[in-house]
Amino acid sequence: MRIPRFCIFCVIAVVSLILAACSKAEPSSAHSAEPERTELARAEPTRVEFVLDTVCSVTLFDGAKDSIYRDIFGRLREIENHMSPYIEGSDISRVNAAAGKAPVQVHDDTFKVIERAVYFAGLSNGAFDPTVGPLVSLWGITGDHPRVPSRAEIDAVLRLINWRDIELNKEQRSVFLKRPGMALDLGAIAKGYAADEVQAIIEKAGLKRAIIDLGGNVSTYGEKTDKSPWKVGVQDPLKERNDYIGIVQGPAQTVVTSGVYERFFIGPDGVRYHHIFNPSTGYPTNNGFLSVSIITGCSMDADALSTAVFVLGYEKGRALVESLKGIEAVFIFDDKSVRKTKGANFILTDKDYRLVDERGY
Ligand code: ADP
Ligand code: MG
Repeated sequence: MRIPRFCIFCVIAVVSLILAACSKAEPSSAHSAEPERTELARAEPTRVEFVLDTVCSVTLFDGAKDSIYRDIFGRLREIENHMSPYIEGSDISRVNAAAGKAPVQVHDDTFKVIERAVYFAGLSNGAFDPTVGPLVSLWGITGDHPRVPSRAEIDAVLRLINWRDIELNKEQRSVFLKRPGMALDLGAIAKGYAADEVQAIIEKAGLKRAIIDLGGNVSTYGEKTDKSPWKVGVQDPLKERNDYIGIVQGPAQTVVTSGVYERFFIGPDGVRYHHIFNPSTGYPTNNGFLSVSIITGCSMDADALSTAVFVLGYEKGRALVESLKGIEAVFIFDDKSVRKTKGANFILTDKDYRLVDERGY
């Protein structure tokens, strides 16, 4: 997930400006934040940093100390240093460089995330595939020079993508990519893991409530002061950040969205090419979805599933969600229709969209 340097600076500058200009009742980037004005008025000022190649914001309450914020952002940087394919010497860089040659020992964090990624690859029949690295590089969508590759280039790279060729050794904590040229990319799952780790720090510190927003992966923690349900906004996929089309209400949980709006470029043909690939075609997934939000307890699982369901498409994706316990979803389509699973406590607020439920929910 690459963003040009100047862009990173812009994001940080804009965020700081907003922070400087606003009272603490109006924090920055979190699309979760908007519906939670009352609760946020009681919060410590939201802290925002650019980590994991995205804008991460954490809001603590109850007079939380500076040191807790430091621990949280330190932990996020540690996870990035282990899992970014763009940082030299990271676990992922080393595993990728040794593809087809030798197994590489990795940190506990990295091993856990790869293990879970392999699990979701199996569960989604390869729709989610952590070996999409070569495809991500070929399209360059997350870098400065994205382009539409030729069919031959895509075919050449597709041969390198297969999660079954990841060999894990639990005792050694080692990872081996069986064929030269293969490359892991944990971009669709690492932020979820990071959100769970932030939550663990908050829990350990004994804080009662918090909002964690890692580039749109939102987790609420604990109970609100007035015990009312948390409200998390679901981003309007066609608008700028902070424009939400509806609200997920409920107890502390995580809401993770994969959408066409996060990273994309417009090709010479006028087509919007986004960053969620279908590993069987080699192209950005094109199945009518603008976004898929997953609502559940574990952010890592929600992250992997939001990508998996996005690639699987509505019928198969919904069936997968419904086969799992404690997982709900909201689906937004390019004709501005919205569907949701039975237990999803989602309230549509934007009149441009319409909630369709052919199954009578
Ligand atoms: P975001 O990063 O915007 O939250 P996702 O969680 O859907 O969105 O992750 C998208 C990222 O995951 C891409 O930038 C790429 O690095 C990687 N990726 C793209 N397609 C797939 C796929 N089919 N399976 C696994 N990872 C993918
Ligand atoms: Mg994801």
